[in-house]
Amino acid sequence: MNILDRYHAMEYGPAPESRAEADAWLAAHDFSKALFIDGKWRKASGGATFATHEPATGKLLANVAEANNADVDAAVAAARRALPKWRATSGYQRARILYAIGRAMQRHSRLFAVLESLDNGKPIRESRDIDVPLAIRHFIHYAGWAQSLEKEFPGEQGVGVCGQIIPWNFPLLMLAWKVAPALATGCTIVLKPAEFTPLTSILFAEICEKAGVPRGVVNIVQGGPETGAAIVNHPGIDKIAFTGSSEVGKIIRKATAGSGKKLSLELGGKSAFIVFEDADLDSAVEGLVDGIWFNQGQVCCAGSRLLVQEGIAEAFLARVRARMAKLRLGDPLDKNTDIGPLVDRTQLDRVRSLIAEGERQGASCWRPDADVPANGWYHLPVLATKVAPANVLAQEEVFGPVLAAMTFRDHAEAVELANNTRYGLAASVWSENINVALHVAPQLKAGVVWINATNMFDAACGFGGYRESGFGREGGREGLREYLAPVVKPKPGRIEPFKLPKPREAAAQDFIDRTPKLFIGGKQVRPDSGYSFPVPDRKDNQIGEVGLGSRKDIRDAVSAARAAKGWASATPYNRAQVLYFLAENLSVRGEEFAARISALTGASGRVAQAEVDASIERIFAAAGMADKFEGRVHQPPSRAVTLALHEPVGVLGVVAPDQQPLLGLVAMIAPALAIGNAVIAIPSARYPLIATDLYQVFETSDLPAGAINIVTGKPGELATVLAKHDDVDGLWVVADAETCRVAEAESAGNLKRVWTSQGYAVDWNSEQGSLETFLSRAVEVKNVWVPYGD
Ligand code: NAD
Repeated sequence: MNILDRYHAMEYGPAPESRAEADAWLAAHDFSKALFIDGKWRKASGGATFATHEPATGKLLANVAEANNADVDAAVAAARRALPKWRATSGYQRARILYAIGRAMQRHSRLFAVLESLDNGKPIRESRDIDVPLAIRHFIHYAGWAQSLEKEFPGEQGVGVCGQIIPWNFPLLMLAWKVAPALATGCTIVLKPAEFTPLTSILFAEICEKAGVPRGVVNIVQGGPETGAAIVNHPGIDKIAFTGSSEVGKIIRKATAGSGKKLSLELGGKSAFIVFEDADLDSAVEGLVDGIWFNQGQVCCAGSRLLVQEGIAEAFLARVRARMAKLRLGDPLDKNTDIGPLVDRTQLDRVRSLIAEGERQGASCWRPDADVPANGWYHLPVLATKVAPANVLAQEEVFGPVLAAMTFRDHAEAVELANNTRYGLAASVWSENINVALHVAPQLKAGVVWINATNMFDAACGFGGYRESGFGREGGREGLREYLAPVVKPKPGRIEPFKLPKPREAAAQDFIDRTPKLFIGGKQVRPDSGYSFPVPDRKDNQIGEVGLGSRKDIRDAVSAARAAKGWASATPYNRAQVLYFLAENLSVRGEEFAARISALTGASGRVAQAEVDASIERIFAAAGMADKFEGRVHQPPSRAVTLALHEPVGVLGVVAPDQQPLLGLVAMIAPALAIGNAVIAIPSARYPLIATDLYQVFETSDLPAGAINIVTGKPGELATVLAKHDDVDGLWVVADAETCRVAEAESAGNLKRVWTSQGYAVDWNSEQGSLETFLSRAVEVKNVWVPYGD
């Protein structure tokens, strides 16, 4: 045997991380008192506990107090009491506390890492080198935001008491993503860790005590779905931040509808890992190992769908199999372990049953010939080929070590396959041609795109999904916004539900009878229902009739909006010019619009003219921002730049109020259009003639067909149709409380981005109604990571 043979025959020796400190920590605790409420350690008021086990052995780690409704009540009350003082604490002081937390975590970093690996089963290399340092980085990063908050976000403050619910796959890291921005903004917290992984949150609460976090500011309640539901439904909470499955995300969307709670959802994914034929294949294989087998595939953004270009597919898959055969399955505390156990028996069963279903549906599943430890919830890595696009392994989030491989012929097909999912969390693109990669990245419907890389995260860079992967971002500036609300909340009056007016006597008119129609796909069309409704003027005489739009009209409008792709891909400069032209054309007819507003609403000539002027000014300003409301470039502490691109949300429904019917409409549609969204607008139902006059202005302003569509009718009914429509990406509703509630609840189907005024009118001159606020709402931030260097 020569030296080379010997070298190849050598086995890895064990390299275990010591668990002595962690065992001592476990032994020193009474976990039946593990609820951290108002700065004290408490038993659950019902005395209940639940068990947490070690996934590598199945052995019991601890019996942990399980919070019930009364405990959640106590935690919310403590957070509410602590809020005024914490909010009033200076940014500098909050920054010092965040910094102290980060440093204290650094001092105990190995204990955090070992506890995490014991409780979750993840290899120590991952918890030690990724989870814990990244969690610490969040606290130190957000310390700076705490101090600069007032300057960076004038007129805003922390939203209030935050209910935060996190999953088990990155227990400490998910806690950090939630707690750090909340503390930075002066919010107080009731956090619920996942029931499989409570331990590091308990150590974190101890760190909070030491770091000087005032009592009641951070409360940590342990428990499962019921404890989570008690938080979600608690009336004393101002914001829910949830990370978990899309299924539970939808339940929470429905449960919080109409409650006024701010909501961010970080949900599941089925992310594409795209390998073009000019990729560096060895790097791509290494990337893939990280993309799908990191944390046993229990990663929301796991690259679980491999899309590989046909010409290299066979060679690439051969390399993948060879690499899979070398992955080391075993003790998570061994520093050489690549793949540890899954978190729990239930997760193992779920993975097995999805694989079996995938095979039944025609997939061929390959796994390396390796030993699986006798104890613990281990599963070998799996490569599934012959996977049809509709196969369960291509569509469902397995949340386990299973890679589904498919092939594509050209760029267009790669993009189509990548987007063929209800999710939109992340994607990874591999090509040595940066032009190709940067051409493909914007076409992918995903919140994060890694170029020639995968699983890169940083506190300065937003993370979050499109579509059913949720809404809102965590990290950086975007993440901060999720915890902010205006200091002064203007409430300029409640909106009453709309009732169809009865036909009345026609007002004397000296022009030929006009029939305002709907405006869909650039054309004036009659309503499908064949019905109209009367429009009374300020003297209660009938001034006209407009079409009563229905479900079918909304469907047509959505198809027209979806087809208007050219608007989103037009250059911002081009969109700016069209909007300037629109403002110009409206100003030419300004007096006519003012007279119409007066006749309909009874506003004085001066007030009506002011509304028209403000509307023209708003369109003009939106035009001006079309090529300036841009993304940012981040420089994370790795050799990469991250481009935070502003993309349009997509097809956007807008329901405008009766108050200031022209301004209310344009204050929403102008920013939406400026960013490249296609809009379906439901104008004021009481004064719809203003909108039907407006489409004549659209017709002369070079807006492409379908970019703006107007459907008149009952706002409540049409908003519900828009909310339920799965091809609508976002919905803004200024209407009565019930219409707003239903819009929020019904949007859960595809988790569209919904904003409602919660039954109140909007002051379009306040922060709440400002151009910037609506421009922010009109974008989806996509973070594209571009590593550099060899
Ligand atoms: P899960 O949805 O079952 O549970 C998540 C959390 O919600 C847990 O704390 C659980 O106790 C709680 N919960 C469950 N039902 C609830 C209810 N009805 N009301 C309130 N709370 C409830 O998800 P999981 O299995 O723990 O985690 C895996 C999921 O998390 C995957 O889908 C994964 O993609 C997702 N995830 C997403 C991100 C992201 O940033 N997008 C990050 C990590 C994990």
